[in-house]
Amino acid sequence: MAADVFFADMRARHKENLLDKVEKLFVRAGMKELIAPKDLVAFKVHFGERGNTGYIRPQFIRRLVNQVKSLGGKPFLTDANTLYVGSRANAVDHLQTAIENGFGYAVVDAPLIIADGLTGRDYVNVPVNRKHFAEVKISSAVYHADALLVISHFKGHELTGFGGALKNLGMGTGSRGGKQMMHSDVLPEVNEEKCRGCAKCEEWCPAGAIAVDQEKGRAQIDARKCLGCGECTITCPHRAIAISWKTEPDVAQEKIVEYALGALKNKQGKAGFFNFVLNVSPECDCAGWTDASIVRDIGILASLDPVALDQACVDLVNRERGLPESRLAGHEEAADKFGAIWPKANWERQLAYAEEAGLGTRAYNLVKI
Ligand code: SF4
Ligand code: SF4
Repeated sequence: MAADVFFADMRARHKENLLDKVEKLFVRAGMKELIAPKDLVAFKVHFGERGNTGYIRPQFIRRLVNQVKSLGGKPFLTDANTLYVGSRANAVDHLQTAIENGFGYAVVDAPLIIADGLTGRDYVNVPVNRKHFAEVKISSAVYHADALLVISHFKGHELTGFGGALKNLGMGTGSRGGKQMMHSDVLPEVNEEKCRGCAKCEEWCPAGAIAVDQEKGRAQIDARKCLGCGECTITCPHRAIAISWKTEPDVAQEKIVEYALGALKNKQGKAGFFNFVLNVSPECDCAGWTDASIVRDIGILASLDPVALDQACVDLVNRERGLPESRLAGHEEAADKFGAIWPKANWERQLAYAEEAGLGTRAYNLVKI
């Protein structure tokens, strides 16, 4: 059976602005029924890396906080620490970055809690018994919450083609150790012709796996130390590092889906999903910048089914014409926009495997509000 996906387009008028539309989506998608009085309600968001400007504006989140409070729920905003050494690798840096990016209490009216604790060690082992994992390490604050709203910026991603609800849920609620488990099949390679020896990747690498060879003036990666976080591929300003697709490219996506299953294990009838298809950048918000949008802003979508939601969003993006002053320049008419940017990341796999795993359905009814 097809799932309902509710869609608010970008039109606004004096009686209804986009913030009002977010509240309307909450009601129309049936999210009131997810929240009981006194529920601790985790808002899984992405606070954005320092320097990124593509993450969801906190004002939108505030409206959802208002809705949850009006039902007697106790909302808090959360995300887990990153694997790579950036501005969100421990709770202190993470909270500092979140506040700098506008997620202060005065704006969002809810506390921020880093989901896997000070250094990423607070998690719960959740059994899933699937192809890759018997159990997954779900961040403690997400696991122990009574209800979960997954609020995602829909955009491109170097590993999964696009990042939406499934990626935010699976990779985003995994603790640091969990993220390492999901990335363990990813191996990067340095293109020596493109490398300039600037050492930016060396500074960023969480595992000390990269060193610039002083004689050659080129970066070298020690595969024995590499955790597979993939962050060096987006850190290099000269695009000299790429994921080696000699490894099985679909495995990381399947692992993300198994983590998503774990995150929802104790949230039956208690989880809802929003995707903001605005500022559709080629890379994720873990990058310390936001490149030009590849398509126009499309709107905001909500559903109780994360698979249907992501499918609807990717279809909407693919119906658009690519923007000429963006990474899609020269591929404006491509039928698969994310495939044109990340040709080796087969984004279909996350949707197909999620459907197979029972997380939802790819069939949807798009309901315009
Ligand atoms: S960041 Fe890129 S150019 Fe700089 S050393 Fe690393 S691979 Fe080479
Ligand atoms: S070398 Fe490995 S561990 Fe280091 S940043 Fe790249 S993918 Fe991550």
